[in-house]
Amino acid sequence: MKVLVINCGSSSLKYQLMDMDTKNSLAKGLVERIGLPGAMLTHRPKDSEKEVITAELPDHVAAIKLVLEAIVDPEFGVINSLADIDAVGHRVLHGGEKVSGSVLIDDAVKQAIEECIELGPLHNPANLAGILACEKMIPGTPQVAVFDTAFHQSMPPESYLYGIPYELYEKYKIRRYGFHGTSHKYVSQRAAGMLGKRIEKLKLISCHLGNGSSITAIKYGKSVETSMGFTPLEGLMMGTRSGDLDPSIVSFIMNKEKWSGDQVNDFLNKRCGVLGLSGVSSDFRDLQKAAEEGNVRAQLALDVFVHDVKKYIGAYAALLDGVDGIIFTAGLGENSPLIRSSICETLGYLGVNIDEEKNTTVRGQEMDISKWGAKCRVLVIPTNEELMIALDTKEIVNQE
Ligand code: AMP
Repeated sequence: MKVLVINCGSSSLKYQLMDMDTKNSLAKGLVERIGLPGAMLTHRPKDSEKEVITAELPDHVAAIKLVLEAIVDPEFGVINSLADIDAVGHRVLHGGEKVSGSVLIDDAVKQAIEECIELGPLHNPANLAGILACEKMIPGTPQVAVFDTAFHQSMPPESYLYGIPYELYEKYKIRRYGFHGTSHKYVSQRAAGMLGKRIEKLKLISCHLGNGSSITAIKYGKSVETSMGFTPLEGLMMGTRSGDLDPSIVSFIMNKEKWSGDQVNDFLNKRCGVLGLSGVSSDFRDLQKAAEEGNVRAQLALDVFVHDVKKYIGAYAALLDGVDGIIFTAGLGENSPLIRSSICETLGYLGVNIDEEKNTTVRGQEMDISKWGAKCRVLVIPTNEELMIALDTKEIVNQE
């Protein structure tokens, strides 16, 4: 079975064609600048050179058409015909409270995605455009929506409610939703495999640390608490997002800077986080380098980030009443021994004891970096959201 995984952004589109018999990727690629001058597709077939194609791409239909043409191209394509695509799996940002799992796309699902545009104004319209474009270009091929929020719908009310009048939750659905659900779900399932235990027996804390970061408490396979909230702005300080703040700071800045609500929201999402604090970069590699060279504010940003992660891990261990494993994933979690070791330094009370040699040698593979006998295992697991989307898609299509 072959599944095409599509992740549409407002002006970009990532794709991957997965062979579900081998769980291998046959080709992947990225379309950039959709609707803008200079649009291009970078297509990377497995085992051969990348192909860069420039084209006029006024909308997502044109982008999907170009992707499909690349996949079946006689020279650099990887399948003979579009009929070889058995299903399409779409990453969708927000499903609100209506969806708690992946679903076969029909009119009701499209309407649910549309109704959540208010909650995911940047992503949901693009996700929907991708779905409609596939319906047009490969009609009859089953399509599945895999929501970034769905995994967290298992959270109990005490986790998802904020301290505001209940009527506002009822009227506007203001609550914690959580994001990165596909990644947290994938790595927690892999963790169970690595630990050789059933996920229904495990208490895990999954740290997805990248440009956007979130931490999730996973009890017996279900998300019970997560750090991102109503939007991805809440929780840890991130590359450019502020993370948790005293809400009064928002009106304070608006008054001082004479900014609108949209302006302050844009500021908190794009100009804060480690970028704002350090004044150096949103990229953790740049920060680590600058800190090594003696840049005090870069070091400060790293210290605040590590402090935040430890704080969340401690809180989640308390909620879970103990923890069997802590997972590090995403760009930073997978690749920075320094960040992992700084975070784990004071987690001995949980039974964490990492082996520094394993911590510094792990590269791009799954590894338990704990010392022998450590009660709480520390796992580095490369995330694979595309594979998770393809697995869910296969499961849903096979049920039909
Ligand atoms: P992601 O959003 O998951 O792609 O993660 C991107 C973040 O991971 C960026 O801030 C990168 O600087 C960081 N990152 C990637 N590789 C490394 C590395 N080897 N050391 C430190 N940070 C890294």
